Amino acid sequence: MRGVFARCGVARRVALRSGGGRGAALRCRRGVPIVAVMTGTAVISADRVAAVVLGMEVDRRTADREQAEAAERAAVELGRDDLAARARLVIADALARGGELTASAPLLHEVHRWAVLENDQYVLARTHFLLSILHTCLGDNAQARRHALMSVDHLPDHVPPLIRGAHLVILALSVDVVSRADAAPYHAEALDIAAAAGDHELSRSVLNNMAYAAYQAGDADAAGELVERMRRLVERTGVQLRPPDLDTVARVQLLQGRFEEAERTLLPLVDPASTRRDAEGNMLPEVLLTLAEAQRLGGALDRAGATVDRCRALSEQRGMVDVGARARRELARLHAASGRFREAYEEQCRYDEESQALRSAEREEQARLAQLVFESREGQRETVRFREMALRDALTGLYNRRFVDAQLPALLSRAEQRGEAVSAALVDIDFFKRINDTLSHEVGDLVLQRVASVMAGAVDEPATVARLGGEEFVIVLPGAGAEEAVARCERVRSAIQRHPWPELTGDLPVTVSIGVSSTPDGRITSAALLSQADRNLYAAKRSGRNRVLADPS
Ligand code: GH3
Ligand code: MG
Ligand code: MG
Repeated sequence: MRGVFARCGVARRVALRSGGGRGAALRCRRGVPIVAVMTGTAVISADRVAAVVLGMEVDRRTADREQAEAAERAAVELGRDDLAARARLVIADALARGGELTASAPLLHEVHRWAVLENDQYVLARTHFLLSILHTCLGDNAQARRHALMSVDHLPDHVPPLIRGAHLVILALSVDVVSRADAAPYHAEALDIAAAAGDHELSRSVLNNMAYAAYQAGDADAAGELVERMRRLVERTGVQLRPPDLDTVARVQLLQGRFEEAERTLLPLVDPASTRRDAEGNMLPEVLLTLAEAQRLGGALDRAGATVDRCRALSEQRGMVDVGARARRELARLHAASGRFREAYEEQCRYDEESQALRSAEREEQARLAQLVFESREGQRETVRFREMALRDALTGLYNRRFVDAQLPALLSRAEQRGEAVSAALVDIDFFKRINDTLSHEVGDLVLQRVASVMAGAVDEPATVARLGGEEFVIVLPGAGAEEAVARCERVRSAIQRHPWPELTGDLPVTVSIGVSSTPDGRITSAALLSQADRNLYAAKRSGRNRVLADPS
């Protein structure tokens, strides 16, 4: 598994180059024994757990499994499913970063299912974020892009800027693959966020991503300018370029024909005396390869030969077969540059064979992983379908009372957070008993079905219609204040009245009475909102039926 993660070029950049966001206020300080805090005997507040989880979300590199598992346990004990879900995502992320994609994928999908059912926007945004990275590793860029877009769409307004920054980074990377122009605004916003937060690591990481994209597109001017911006950032802030950044800088210099400079950029990284033992140590073979290319192109063929040898030895030792294969190709080019065409030819043939074998092994591995991801996605669809069935009314296909009971409180608390209005309308068919009694129960059922479909057709998203039972329905209108709700309910009422009923009920008219109740800011319980609507419905019935009545103003 580690192999695929390491072989996945973009993922390397995603995993290593975008993790730079670290906000001072949110950082779980290194050295603070969070696990001890979480598992100690002291009562841990939800705020504390939330801070720890957020810290791990913001600075993904400090997040480890043990810590996340402790946070999850604490969240479960506190009854905070949302925090537990987020802690699980941190675990899934840690697994993926450790190369265990097969363990990570099902966990991601499980949390995603939970978030869909609970309609938890933030957790949805986080699962899409991690699914985007996962799909990048699977080589499915279209899916990666889709998830990245949703990871930004679902983000609530008030998330910490650095979280938004990280989501924009992933979105920009996935869009870069198809269009640098389309990705530019996302990079730019991420840079703005980094600057506003004073997070130079994030700035460094975004500039590196942009420079690498420009390099890949062969745009030497843009790439050069971005490298210049990286240099100015270092000068201004003292932030340190990491091996992946320096590798990008050197590649851009190669693109500009500045071979010796490229060599000078990389030499400090490969000095055995001062090899940095940081997390990017596995970049070394990659860096050696870029260095060999710089040396060859600069005419230092002996140095290039020694560098290639070192690269091959190291990649063999670490089982990095893909870098090993590319080192062979570099060796072939080196032979050719030295006029040893026979050796060059033989080495090139070996490279072709090796890389072909590698590609098919990689394809097999990716297919297996893709199957795994697909299976858990299928599972998710099934669960959503079953859960949907349980939330639907069998006769009309509308949502049922259980759906309203589950969704309305959550909707109200979101509205309260955002200070948004919500209205609810109870709809009751007038003299329905008469239809049953005069015509038949079957005709009564047909009338219920038609009323349901007329209402569903007359109500636009995000409003929803549900059947509470009998001939009583509810329309939930998120974002609608009293006046708007009355206007929309009036349209529903008149659509039902104007429906061609005679073909079904003869001279018995079908009309509805509607009681509307509204909250300007979500500060009401769902029970109170519905009972106020019920009182207004009752008043509508008493004052003659076939009308809409709202809260007295
Ligand atoms: P009002 O205008 O005051 O609402 O009068 P109403 O006749 O509509 O009210 P009432 O509550 O007296 O009657 C509701 C009837 O709805 C009684 C019940 O038999 C009928 N009903 C409840 N569920 C169903 C159903 O699923 N199918 C049919 N056909 N009838 C149902
Ligand atoms: Mg009734
Ligand atoms: Mg009725």
